[in-house]
Amino acid sequence: METKQIANILKAPAPHMVGDGFRVHNFFPGGYEIDMSPFFLMDYGSKIEFSARKEPRGVGIHPHRGFETVTIAYHGAVAHHDSSGHSGVIYPGDVQWMTAASGILHKEYHEENYSLAGGPFQMVQLWVNLPAKFKMNKPKYQAIQQSKMAHYHLSDDGGKIEIIAGSYHGIKGNASTFTPIELYNARLNKGGKAEFSFQANFNTGFMVIEGSIQVDNNEIVSADNFIYFKNEGEEIKIEALENSVVLILSGEPIDEPIVQYGPFLMNTEAEITQAISDYNQGRFGYLEE
Ligand code: MN
Repeated sequence: METKQIANILKAPAPHMVGDGFRVHNFFPGGYEIDMSPFFLMDYGSKIEFSARKEPRGVGIHPHRGFETVTIAYHGAVAHHDSSGHSGVIYPGDVQWMTAASGILHKEYHEENYSLAGGPFQMVQLWVNLPAKFKMNKPKYQAIQQSKMAHYHLSDDGGKIEIIAGSYHGIKGNASTFTPIELYNARLNKGGKAEFSFQANFNTGFMVIEGSIQVDNNEIVSADNFIYFKNEGEEIKIEALENSVVLILSGEPIDEPIVQYGPFLMNTEAEITQAISDYNQGRFGYLEE
């Protein structure tokens, strides 16, 4: 096994607002031209303080087709409702894995009590692409609470690895995925060490959410930076220089053409035209404002 080398350490691009509730740095595909397939998009909401407000901030009803949205909360709370009848709230540490597939309408807002109190807010949203054969599947919703999340305790009180999807040291995450995906939150205590092994061809990146880590006894990377690895080698070792949280992403690339139009992610232009037509004809279902 060889060490997987760092390709680049990427700073957070300038943020933009999604609705009025999510201030996000789009690392890809907008910010940087990197191949992270099956992860098509990563919006990183760096820590921000929202003032108290009666009317929750957020983003209103919008469609998705052809992929999954995975939302991971670090601070604050997000409420979700969709046209296939699923709803839920994610609190810090929780994950919401929504498979839009053939199409849903949904809305994403700050949870009421969080909104009333205000306070720190930090989250990540990933768009996970689906292979052609699953794009028109029925929508699906997986709520993964931190209290029930599979986890691995690191030696020497180093902290823990929470396994959202895939497996770490034989412990399997709860999320079911359509293609091979490893997705973990590493919550390391100062001095905590963790090692990872991913297939060389898997696209791999580490988002440092909090604190700072040293990678392979070499580069030091602090919060709000994304470490993008080369498709060579397998092994990555990290050590926390202070209490740290790192989102670990690795997945098998989906080798298919992609055509994106806003919230639709398909293989061909014709499928995008179909998605727009289906949406305009109300075939994504109904959701109350
Ligand atoms: Mn959405």
